[in-house]
Amino acid sequence: MNIKQLIIIGAGPGGYAAAFLAADLGINVTLIDDEKNPGGVCLYRGCIPSKALLHVAKVISESEQAKNFGVEFSKPKIKIDKMREWKDDVVKKLTGGLGQLSKQRKVEYLQGRAKFINANSIEVSKQNGEKEILNFENVIIATGSHPTKIPGLSIDTPRLLDSTSALDIKDIPQSMLVIGGGYIGLELGTVYATLGTKITIVEMLPGVLSGADSDLVAVLLKNVQSLFESIMLSTKVVEIKEDKRGIKVIFEDKDSKRVEKMYDKVLMSVGRKPNSKDLGLENTKVEIDEQGFIKVDNQMRTAEKGIFAIGDVAGEPMLAHKASHEGRTAVEVIAGHDVIFDPKAIPAVVFTDPEVAWCGMTESEAKAQDKDVTIAKFPWAASGRAMTLDRSDGLTKLIIDRETERILGVGIVGPGAGDLIAEGVLAIEMNANATDLKLTIHPHPTLSETLMESAEVFFGQSTHIYRPKR
Ligand SMILES: Cc1cc2nc3c(=O)[nH]c(=O)nc-3n(C[C@H](O)[C@H](O)[C@H](O)COP(=O)(O)OP(=O)(O)OC[C@H]3O[C@@H](n4cnc5c(N)ncnc54)[C@H](O)[C@@H]3O)c2cc1C
Repeated sequence: MNIKQLIIIGAGPGGYAAAFLAADLGINVTLIDDEKNPGGVCLYRGCIPSKALLHVAKVISESEQAKNFGVEFSKPKIKIDKMREWKDDVVKKLTGGLGQLSKQRKVEYLQGRAKFINANSIEVSKQNGEKEILNFENVIIATGSHPTKIPGLSIDTPRLLDSTSALDIKDIPQSMLVIGGGYIGLELGTVYATLGTKITIVEMLPGVLSGADSDLVAVLLKNVQSLFESIMLSTKVVEIKEDKRGIKVIFEDKDSKRVEKMYDKVLMSVGRKPNSKDLGLENTKVEIDEQGFIKVDNQMRTAEKGIFAIGDVAGEPMLAHKASHEGRTAVEVIAGHDVIFDPKAIPAVVFTDPEVAWCGMTESEAKAQDKDVTIAKFPWAASGRAMTLDRSDGLTKLIIDRETERILGVGIVGPGAGDLIAEGVLAIEMNANATDLKLTIHPHPTLSETLMESAEVFFGQSTHIYRPKR
C-alpha cells in the first residue's frame, strides 16, 4: 500500500510554507487545495488583494495631501476595471510564482477537496469528479477560515458584500455601510471611501479595533473622521432589507433607540470562522472547541496521532504570519526536531491611513494583569522624518517592565507602522531592554528613530522632547 509521508490540506500561507519547508528537509509532501496554485485566502482574497487596493488609496490620498506643500494635482480619473485587473494580476503573479516554487521543490500538488475517512486516510474529490483515496503517515490540516455572517441578517443580493466580493471591486457605490469595526472593515472602508464612496462604519462595541490600545486608535480615528461619513459605536444592526433604492438598515443603539437608513451597499465584516466542518473530523479523534477551532498543543499536534493543525483553523490570532510559523513548527516536529511554537510576540497590523501596529503586551493588557510597567511614548510631532513627510500625527510607545526594564510590548500608529513594528517584535523576542533600544544607533532621519527615542523617553533623556523622568 502506498502511504504518503506527509499530506497538507490547504495551501494558504500556513500550508504552503509548511509544504516548502518539508520538501527542503527531504520529506515527501503532498499539498492539496481547491485552487490551481497555492496561496489560500491570503493571496487570493485577503492580505494581498486588500493591500494592492490600499496602495491605490494611499496614492490618491497622498496626491490630495500634496497641496499642503504647494503641489496640486487634478482630481484623479478612476478606471475601475483597470484597477481590478492590476490587483488580479498581482495575485496571479504571486500565486503562479508559488506554483513554480512547488514544482521546483518537487511538492506533489493536487487540486481538489480533502476529507478524512479515518485516522489514516483521506479522500480527495478532484475538479473532474474523480475521487482518490490517499493513506498517510502525517497530515497537517491548514484549511483556514471563511467570513462569518450575522444569523438572521443575511439576504441574498449583490448589494450585500463580504470581504471576498468587496475585493472584487466592480463599481464605486454612492454609499456603503460597513458592519464591523475590525481591521478588515476599516481597511476595505478606507479603500472605498478614498475612491469616493460615503462610508459609515457600525460597531456593536464601544470602540473599533478592540485589540489595540485606545491611544493608538484615537490617532487613527482623528484621521479617518474626514474620510468616513460616520462611525457609529455601541450600535447594532437589527434588520436589513432590500428595496429598489438600496438596502434599508435598522440600527439599535445602547439605549434601544432605533433608526433607519438607506445604503447602496452593505459590507458585512464581522469576523471569520475556522474551516473545521465538512472535513470528516468526526472520523478521527481530532477535537474542536466551542468556536470551531481545532484543539492543538504547542507542537501543533491534535488529539489524533499523526494529525496536526495550523493557521486560522487552529486558533487566534487569525493572521498569515502566525499560520506560516505554526506550519514550519509542525513540519519540524514531524522531522523529529525538538521544537515548540512559543512566540513572545505576534505582530498585528491594520493597514489603514495611518497604519496601526502592535506586538507583545498592550497597555490595556498590562493594566488588566496589574503588571508594574512604564509606558514610554514618543509623539511623531517631534520626529524630523515625520515632519518631512507632512505626517506628524503618529505615535510610538513602549510598554516596559519597570523592574527589569525589559520591553514587553510596542505600539505604533503612523504611516509605515506595519514595517516599523518588526523592530519591536525582534526586541521582544531577543529579550531586549530599554537600554538596548536606546543604545542601538538608528539611521537619521527615519521613523525608526521614534523607537529609539521612546526608549530615551523611558530614561527621561529623549533628545527631541523634554520629558524629565518621573
Ligand atoms: C480581506 C482580508 C485581509 C486580510 N489581511 C491580512 C493581513 O494584512 N495580514 C495578515 O496576516 N492576515 C490577513 N488576513 C488573514 C489571512 O488571510 C489569514 O490569516 C491567512 O490566510 C490564514 O492562512 P491559513 O494558511 O491558515 O489558511 P487560508 O489562507 O485560509 O488557506 C486555506 C486554504 O485551504 C483550502 N481548503 C479549505 N478546506 C479544504 C479542503 N477540505 N480540502 C482542500 N483545501 C481546502 C482553502 O480553499 C484555502 O485555499 C486577511 C484576511 C482577509 C479576509
